[in-house]
Amino acid sequence: MSTQHPLTPNRPAPAFLDQSHGHFIDGRDQPPAGGVHVPSIDPMTERTLTNIAVGDQQDVDLAVAAARRAFGSADWAGITPERRSRVLHQIADVMEANAEELATLDSLEMGGPFVGTRWMVHHTVEVFRHAAGWPTRIYGTTAPSAPTQLKYTTRRPLGVVVAIASWNGPMLQMGYKVAPALATGNTVVAKPSEQSSLSWLRLTQLIHEHTDLPDGVLNVVTGPGPTTGELLITHPDVDKVSFTGSTAVGKHVLEASKDSLKRVTLELGGKSPVIVLDDADLNEAAASAALGYLAGSGQGCVAGSRILVQESVREEFTRLLTEQLANWSKAMGDPFEATTVMGPLASRAHYEKVTGYIDLARSLGAEVITAETDENDLFVGPTLVTGLDNSSRVAQEEIFGPVAVLLSFDDAAEAVRIANDTRYGLAATVYTNNLAEAHRMAERLQAGTVWINGGHDMSTGPLPFGGMKESGIGREHGPDVIDAYTETKAVVINL
Ligand code: NAD
Repeated sequence: MSTQHPLTPNRPAPAFLDQSHGHFIDGRDQPPAGGVHVPSIDPMTERTLTNIAVGDQQDVDLAVAAARRAFGSADWAGITPERRSRVLHQIADVMEANAEELATLDSLEMGGPFVGTRWMVHHTVEVFRHAAGWPTRIYGTTAPSAPTQLKYTTRRPLGVVVAIASWNGPMLQMGYKVAPALATGNTVVAKPSEQSSLSWLRLTQLIHEHTDLPDGVLNVVTGPGPTTGELLITHPDVDKVSFTGSTAVGKHVLEASKDSLKRVTLELGGKSPVIVLDDADLNEAAASAALGYLAGSGQGCVAGSRILVQESVREEFTRLLTEQLANWSKAMGDPFEATTVMGPLASRAHYEKVTGYIDLARSLGAEVITAETDENDLFVGPTLVTGLDNSSRVAQEEIFGPVAVLLSFDDAAEAVRIANDTRYGLAATVYTNNLAEAHRMAERLQAGTVWINGGHDMSTGPLPFGGMKESGIGREHGPDVIDAYTETKAVVINL
């Protein structure tokens, strides 16, 4: 692996990169049946970091069979809730002890600043600790029964869960699925994105070295979505697909689930509105709105990429926001520098998609503020588009880069109307000092999460997270995971 790059002479090179990577099935590294690998690319240098295996039918069958066996095994189905809880804490411990390496792999593969990927690993640790509380708290009910009967319900795990994640937050997205699926007694075949598979491969290896998780309960199959992913979502012996990714592929997952009526959770795209009312603290709103769409270079599902400001304060707010963008520009660079908060975009194809939207905005006559780009290093700087209306493609389509559209409104009712005028419904943010108005707007905004006076709080363990409309189906986190990963069984005993 090359470690030389003009901006990054000292790229970290964890020893894991030098291993040959198969899938991880039934407790061991499993070379791909077809012997096919694809490169994993560092977007900062566009050089190959290592190769990952491509899962074919044989690999997928092997992984699903291992998960099915483990689901019925005495080692997993037969253990006490307390023991399952302990295993989840052990996984959290392993993750915590290896956080630097896991975050390094994520930053190398998808270019995210190390400060962010390290936070994501530690947050995933908290998600596992939260989930570790569930095994001992999943209750059934007793139903009103005749004196000659006893009617009750229990919650049963679903079986084999396929977990598919996007590339932009590898540890988090997969952790959000694996933690509750295991807590409720399911087994998992995980397929991380082909652009960021290494951290979950490494973590699964570490889990099997250092915890009591039985073989076959957690398996990882790597490979591209249209081939390996497709084999997983259509596999007849899979009970549930938990998917994080684009709305287009999410719809396809739903379609594919029809034959065997698989349960499906979909965490999909967004075009989230940020509403600034004229009584808000404009300095704070500008700082927070910048963070809300620039963190991770805007490659976040909840990015607040439509900024709606009340007309009476539009000029002042635009000036304050533009000042913020200048600060963020200075913090672009090598993901491993402590001061970097914006790294390169995750791939050349994605760079071209994002810069294509900036070109489109210009061609539509918009004013485009800042928008520094560097095709050598796949960098796109903080970009603000003004002068378009909410119906333009730039305001309606998910760009997934550091690009926001600034729109204006006259009153709260118009703000809500524009905010809801999208096919997405993932998140929304409101800045105002009028809490009664904030509450009324929170009720009317079509979004799975509404933040008031400060957005982008992804401390989601205890709070359900998910999307309305075309942003998804179902919720991750909070008590909703019980519905997502178990089914109710009714039992009638004739006495
Ligand atoms: P994507 O839909 O291209 O891919 C997501 C995952 O699906 C990848 O692992 C990919 O390999 C797999 N996949 C692709 N085609 C498949 C198929 N036919 N069958 C099975 N699997 C298939 O999305 P992406 O580019 O990786 O991620 C960006 C998208 O993810 C954005 O739309 C973003 O908003 C969304 N996202 C949503 C959330 C959320 O929680 N709502 C979180 C992060 C990202």
